[in-house]
Amino acid sequence: MEKRISGTTGLFTLLGSPVGHSGSPAMFNFSFQKQGLDYAYLAFDVKKEQMPQAIDALRLFKVRGSNVTMPCKTVAADLVDDLSPAAKIVGAINVIVNDNGKLTGHITDGLGFVKNLQEKGVDIKGKKLVVLGAGGAATAIQVQSALDGASAISIFNKKDAFFENAQATKKKINDSVTAVELHVYDLDDQEKLKAEIASADILVNTTIVGMKPLDGQSLVDKSFLRKDLVVADTVYNPLKTQLILDAESLGCTVAPGKGMLLWQGAAAYKLFTGKDMPVDEYRKFEEEQKAVNA
Ligand code: NAD
Repeated sequence: MEKRISGTTGLFTLLGSPVGHSGSPAMFNFSFQKQGLDYAYLAFDVKKEQMPQAIDALRLFKVRGSNVTMPCKTVAADLVDDLSPAAKIVGAINVIVNDNGKLTGHITDGLGFVKNLQEKGVDIKGKKLVVLGAGGAATAIQVQSALDGASAISIFNKKDAFFENAQATKKKINDSVTAVELHVYDLDDQEKLKAEIASADILVNTTIVGMKPLDGQSLVDKSFLRKDLVVADTVYNPLKTQLILDAESLGCTVAPGKGMLLWQGAAAYKLFTGKDMPVDEYRKFEEEQKAVNA
């Protein structure tokens, strides 16, 4: 029987759909237990149209905090009482903190990206980024990078429904952060892509290309990469995308999406508990679990 749960245990949740595959319950519950915190974390499958009820439930049950995942991140931003500066610009949230009934929304995906690079010894300040993509992950990364002092961001997207999103993000960032140069380009313009990567410090793929079932594919010709380019990906399944493998083979510093996933969770943990998540211990635990299940 679970001995940790009592009448005083504080609840944290994950809201979204689907949630059954999520690694968050394991990560948060492991960390609560390690640090002796009287909290539990559960995932609830909630559709977009059910979010108003779910947010009411957070208030009713005095849930301490919640993560929000797809497809509920945007609608949740409209339902909370306040937003962090980054969440205000992004217009989407993945974390809700319940402070005695006042719900504040945060977005930690961009923080996870920046921290993942920091762990590899890369500081985003003053750097030029090429970002492939203009969806949810891309917007969070673009906004956080601008807030953290990137000097220039060139966004490439194909001319699909997300292209307009790239232009809207450029405008939103320009309205609040002036010290960053922003450009939006068509991903089909390969000459431009080659030239922009040639003058960039960091390249990041935030599209679904590279993720299963598009694994084995990369949006960037390997000849556009060079050894002193830092190459990151948001995709974490597979652990190494074709882009990361190409970059690694050239000796580039690489930052695969799994690290971003971990660090965006650690940033949420800090907002929830005020404490640093026991990241190294959790990584060790994950490795042990992998070995047991192999
Ligand atoms: P999204 O649906 O909001 O955006 C999808 C993006 O992919 C858009 O820019 C779209 O134009 C682009 N795209 C789709 N098909 C394409 C194709 N064939 N060629 C070129 N571009 C294409 O998705 P999202 O929520 O931003 O997620 C994107 C990826 O980032 C997913 O793999 C997701 O798992 C990952 N992600 C990772 C983390 C993390 O912490 N590591 C966090 C969020 C998202």
